[in-house]
Amino acid sequence: MKALSVIIAGAGIGGLTAAACLIQKGFKVRIFEQASALGEVGAGVQSSANAVKVLYSLGLRDELEKVAVRPQAFEFRRFDTAELMHSVPLGNAHESTHGAPYYHLHRADLHDVLARKVYALDPDCITLNAKVEGFEESSAGVTLKLADGRSVSGDVLIGADGIKSAIRAQILGETPVSYTGDIAWRAVIPVEQLPSDIMARVSTVWCGPKKHAVMYYLRAGAVMNFVGLVEHDQPETESWTQKRPWAELKADFVGWHPTIQTVIDAIDRDSCYRYALNNRPPVANWSTPLVTMLGDAAHPTLPYMASGAVMAIEDSAVLARCLEEGLNDVPAALQRYQRNRLERTARIVNGSTASRALYRIEDEAEMRQAFHDQDLSKARTEWLYSYDPLTVPLP
Ligand SMILES: Cc1cc2nc3c(=O)[nH]c(=O)nc-3n(C[C@H](O)[C@H](O)[C@H](O)COP(=O)(O)OP(=O)(O)OC[C@H]3O[C@@H](n4cnc5c(N)ncnc54)[C@H](O)[C@@H]3O)c2cc1C
Repeated sequence: MKALSVIIAGAGIGGLTAAACLIQKGFKVRIFEQASALGEVGAGVQSSANAVKVLYSLGLRDELEKVAVRPQAFEFRRFDTAELMHSVPLGNAHESTHGAPYYHLHRADLHDVLARKVYALDPDCITLNAKVEGFEESSAGVTLKLADGRSVSGDVLIGADGIKSAIRAQILGETPVSYTGDIAWRAVIPVEQLPSDIMARVSTVWCGPKKHAVMYYLRAGAVMNFVGLVEHDQPETESWTQKRPWAELKADFVGWHPTIQTVIDAIDRDSCYRYALNNRPPVANWSTPLVTMLGDAAHPTLPYMASGAVMAIEDSAVLARCLEEGLNDVPAALQRYQRNRLERTARIVNGSTASRALYRIEDEAEMRQAFHDQDLSKARTEWLYSYDPLTVPLP
């Protein structure tokens, strides 16, 4: 049988992972990316075993080990006293329970590892300067339309073009994204600029009224990632590259623990980025007979369970399995993929939104009780990290 030709819109973490998974299974894949060069911003991405297993299946273990940090735990601390409210063991406990490590990665490193994998599998796979506008579909196949007038035909189209997906707009209608009420500050700090005992090899979530902050190490421990998530009435533009004055970041965290002040004080004054966090509610369908979506195009989320990119990686593996086992009936394969991803991804999207309230409970005793009652450690072990996209049954 002829190998199906798959077109992917978008070369983010999702599009690249999907391409690698599909090429490895024998599909002919072409990615169309709007940017003129491949790359990612300077920020961190956490990746739990459920995604790392997929990356390992692509032969990326050695490359990832060179750049990853293996955190020992997620620590949830009170914003002012630093009291430990809750801890989720990671490190060896995560790896032995779930069969792969928990990684902290620089986004640019993960993106680069994936891009090099795709190029090694097929040097002609990625077309840059290719802004996708939409598609035409018939029983014979699907044709991708590019903004510059070019068009490309294939058997299947995957929209991996992010939260403002053009493919999504055509499948589900043009709807604006919703501002979640939070903006995100981001910065990375070389560890030489911080006291050596500032934080153990953990991911710390500082929890407080109307905001929280996340800190963890990247690049084999060479830099610290700082993200400050703050309620703001006026949304920013949604741009990962918009700078704002350092003084505004400092002002947002007045009164927070000295550790946070030390980290903020060490941030390069000209490298404070701030952007709006947007979202969309989960949907019940994201496919047509020959077109589907993955990652943020299908199910954008607040990042409060550190699982947006993880879901895109899971989607990629499950979609590749469904297409491989459903070569004779692409519409059925896409429905099988979607059926098996809808509930889990909606659970993560809704859980991430719910985490926002948990991390921000004003009263200290109430917060302590809420962390105790919700027992994130147990919940995340039971269903979030234990999922294996490579072997999970796909009814
Ligand atoms: C502050 C923050 C922290 C986060 N932390 C984590 C974390 O720790 N762990 C985690 O798993 N997730 C995290 N996430 C979520 C994660 O970043 C996203 O879920 C993930 O990047 C989605 O990947 P994607 O490939 O689906 O989309 P994107 O990364 O948005 O990639 C889409 C690609 O498509 C391209 N594109 C867009 N439109 C077009 C078009 N019309 N034509 C052609 N190309 C197009 C874009 O240029 C881009 O290359 C975080 C998010 C934020 C905001």
